[in-house]
Amino acid sequence: MKKTERVHHILNEFNEKSFQNDLIQWFEQEQRILPWRENKDPYRVWVSEIMLQQTRVDTVIPYFNHFLEKFPTPQALAEAEEQEVLKAWEGLGYYSRARNLQNAVREVVEDYDGIVPSDPEELGDLKGVGPYTKGAILSIAYDTPEPAVDGNVMRVLSRILHVEDDISKQSTRKLFEELVRGVISTEDPSSFNQGLMELGAVVCTPKTPSCLLCPVQQHCRAFEKGIETDLPVKSSKKKQKKIPYLLLLVENENGEVLIEQRPDQGLLASLWQYPMVPLTDVDTQSVPNWFYGEYGLNIKLGEKIDKIKHVFSHLIWEMDVVRATVDSGDLDYKRAQFINPEDRKDYPFPVSHQKAHHYLNQ
Ligand code: SF4
Repeated sequence: MKKTERVHHILNEFNEKSFQNDLIQWFEQEQRILPWRENKDPYRVWVSEIMLQQTRVDTVIPYFNHFLEKFPTPQALAEAEEQEVLKAWEGLGYYSRARNLQNAVREVVEDYDGIVPSDPEELGDLKGVGPYTKGAILSIAYDTPEPAVDGNVMRVLSRILHVEDDISKQSTRKLFEELVRGVISTEDPSSFNQGLMELGAVVCTPKTPSCLLCPVQQHCRAFEKGIETDLPVKSSKKKQKKIPYLLLLVENENGEVLIEQRPDQGLLASLWQYPMVPLTDVDTQSVPNWFYGEYGLNIKLGEKIDKIKHVFSHLIWEMDVVRATVDSGDLDYKRAQFINPEDRKDYPFPVSHQKAHHYLNQ
């Protein structure tokens, strides 16, 4: 069956109007008070939607408030140093979100006088603005009936409409975008999309949906069949790869600690960290050659003081934290420097390395 036929088939006998009314009415009465809902400024909506990807609302609130204080307008964000932006994002994770946001906001300032475009094509062409973010900005800020489909919305709709497609597949997202186009309110797309997101966050939750309190229960096919917890269908994730490291707290004779900036591309790009050495490359009793070569220092390893585990979506770092001292040599690596431990607050560190901060005060 072609997609459009399939969409018609799924929406056959679904009462869109009544569903929209129940969802919107509930959202208007019950929505949580959140800082990004104070007004519909597209820049605020944009920042909040980027921060909320993969991150819980409670975690985002203080970051959002601080970020908007520091960068209250697209112009302010566009003019900021990247390191300042990363510092404001420190601890939130998925740092490429911050870099892409800043790059796209710079385009908005240069090409659109600092006004976030309301044209779907122009908005979608900005770097890092994918279909979800585009739909969220267009619907929430500009009241345009565009779908904003993320995992949350797919879960809710797969239950309401009884769709058993695997939501980890890209083609399923496209199907849900078409389904949203079929059911979205053209009168109030902002409340409709926010209502779907809110429903997924507080009622139709992944493991234990509160069906008995659900404002759209009478529209829900999965509830009617008693299969709500069997949906959505999602193929299991690949197991994360574990990588063992030494994390070195290298101090020099002045009590300064060695930090280095990560590469400009890839995981945690441009953030700062304590030197990390893949454990497979190291004989822990002596100084690895390449390590000496990289920094121009002869490093003497000391006691192991902790083991830190940090889980990313696709891999796990298992880091043995080891104290170390400089035996000889002069630092000769432009991405590394010795700093007073107290000055580390001026550098954006990933959470994995923040976990080692306190050892430097002991
Ligand atoms: S009735 Fe249950 S499964 Fe259906 S939308 Fe509501 S909370 Fe989700």
